[in-house]
Amino acid sequence: EKHLMAHTLPALPYAYNALEPFIDELTMQIHHDKHHQAYVTNLNNALANVPELAEKSLESLLRDIASVPDSIRTAVRNNGGGHHNHTMFWEIMAPGGRGEPTGALAEAIASAFGSFADFKAKVTQNGVTRFGSGWSWLVVDGNHKLAVYSTANQDSPLMDGHTPLLGIDVWEHAYYLKYQNRRPDYLAAWWSTVNWDEIAKRFASALA
Ligand code: MN
Repeated sequence: EKHLMAHTLPALPYAYNALEPFIDELTMQIHHDKHHQAYVTNLNNALANVPELAEKSLESLLRDIASVPDSIRTAVRNNGGGHHNHTMFWEIMAPGGRGEPTGALAEAIASAFGSFADFKAKVTQNGVTRFGSGWSWLVVDGNHKLAVYSTANQDSPLMDGHTPLLGIDVWEHAYYLKYQNRRPDYLAAWWSTVNWDEIAKRFASALA
């Protein structure tokens, strides 16, 4: 049996308890080891039915989701989106995350949204008001401009022609153990986990 190139779960880049007290250890463990793993497994299972897609990168599958065959498009959308979104989510957080961006990213945020505080309020509001499950995003759009919006389920900004820089998971599995129904409290705490250096790197490469 020929083994197809499979997508794999990346290791969490820090300990499960590293984001305490903002995100608790058990949530991180279940979120990474169970939820993210399930997206990877289900993506691989879907792609096994369409071997000609095996060599395509996840990013190109999502950017060109319309060309994925009908038979597996929903599975790739949900599980490929879930894999890509979570891989980024772990990387844009870090223990001892700093409160604010610096340099070119800080200037671009101020110019697009008025101030860092206004930007943060918009992204928070988009997360609070996303009905059901989804993500609140900062993206670089097709015109190389910063934009904020939210998506449902595991839909990726790549499917809309954008490049995601920051995404906040607002699925209940991301916060319910610690925050229960208080999504706004989770969102307020989340800003203390942000790895702005990683986001600045993604901003630079999106513009390159
Ligand atoms: Mn999640």
